[in-house]
Amino acid sequence: MKLIAPLLLLFSMAANADSIEPIETTLNEDERGLVAWIGEREAEIVSTLRTHVEINTGTENTAGLDQYRDLLAKELEDLGFATRTVSSEPLETVSCAGGKVEIADHLVATRAGEGPRLLLNGHIDTVFSADDEFQEMVIDGDGKIHGPGVADMKGGIVVMLYALRALAETGALDNTNLTVLLNTDEEIGSLGSRPLIEELAGQHDLGVVFEGSYQNQLTRARKGLGQARLKVTGRESHAGAAHQEGVSASLELAHKVIALEALTDYDAQSTVNVGVMAGGEKRNTVPGCADAYVDMRFTSEAEGIALLEQVQKIANTNTTKSRRFPDYPFSETWAVLHRPAKAMHPRVDALIAQAMGISAQIGEPIVGARYSGGGTDGSIAQAAGLPTIDSLGVDGLGAHSSRESTTVVSLVARSQLAAVMLLRLLQE
Ligand SMILES: [Zn+2]
Repeated sequence: MKLIAPLLLLFSMAANADSIEPIETTLNEDERGLVAWIGEREAEIVSTLRTHVEINTGTENTAGLDQYRDLLAKELEDLGFATRTVSSEPLETVSCAGGKVEIADHLVATRAGEGPRLLLNGHIDTVFSADDEFQEMVIDGDGKIHGPGVADMKGGIVVMLYALRALAETGALDNTNLTVLLNTDEEIGSLGSRPLIEELAGQHDLGVVFEGSYQNQLTRARKGLGQARLKVTGRESHAGAAHQEGVSASLELAHKVIALEALTDYDAQSTVNVGVMAGGEKRNTVPGCADAYVDMRFTSEAEGIALLEQVQKIANTNTTKSRRFPDYPFSETWAVLHRPAKAMHPRVDALIAQAMGISAQIGEPIVGARYSGGGTDGSIAQAAGLPTIDSLGVDGLGAHSSRESTTVVSLVARSQLAAVMLLRLLQE
């Protein structure tokens, strides 16, 4: 890792920030065959997406994730992949409720052969839990698809699957080196699957991630991400009869929240968001526990480390004090930088240019690439040394909300693009 970081920095400086121009290209007969094969299956592709979307796979719904993973394992086995599952330890949480977060097993599917070693990656979890109201897939008259995970990223999983099916149909997968990694915990920061992603990154030549795109732009570079959990313990007491014997955990947490939010610096493009906070249980009791869940975004490793230190300092410093009960309040923290920033990379830029050129021949052209504040597992893989192109899934809107959508046109066009891109990569 120590050697890789300066190397990436060099790459990112070498790739200038000018916009990427498409590579002029035409499709050969084999490639046109792939595009036609997929184009004839629009109804089937949409119905496959519906089946995938309507299995709830909120990150904590391990039963739903098991069901979806088994379905995908079967699909990949039918395409000649050998599959195995990899488990992760449950995560301890620093919170008032305590307890552990269980992580469903991840899926690794491999085809061992010759040629370039490609790592195809997607996550099969979504942010929508089993009790969320947003569960169904609905298609408008104008071909807009709404549903949980249609863009982030079951649409991308279907794109990958149909690209692989089309390639398998023509024999193009024979004797190739392909690994498909489908992890189950991306939406909580890949805290369990990170070692697996890093291990596989070291065994491959190129990464392809099927997260969604936005306004038909791929993602060229990304912010880094961190997260923190804070728990403050106070002393419960009757709010009327013995208010002075209480020490409010909520009051202490409120001070911390204001200090944490003040770390946001738009000029430096670093943000701290206290996404969740809660404290106390009853109106008439001084709160004995309060907790918060915090998100951090930054543009470089150095800024990430600085931000993490500041967050930890605030979390560990108590502003309120109790003279009568000097042991209270006390605070516990867990914090981690879970995704490195993803720098520009010349290999990835070249692939983006190729995707722009190929998609112009297919329809729904990719018009460029952007810098994103959102992270993906491509950031982990690339930081571990694997050049990774990371938004070849469907074009989407409203991810992580009940407005999430994509389109039938994008679902088909991106499957076609992925098939042609993969064919060219496998033939390199
Ligand atoms: Zn995603």
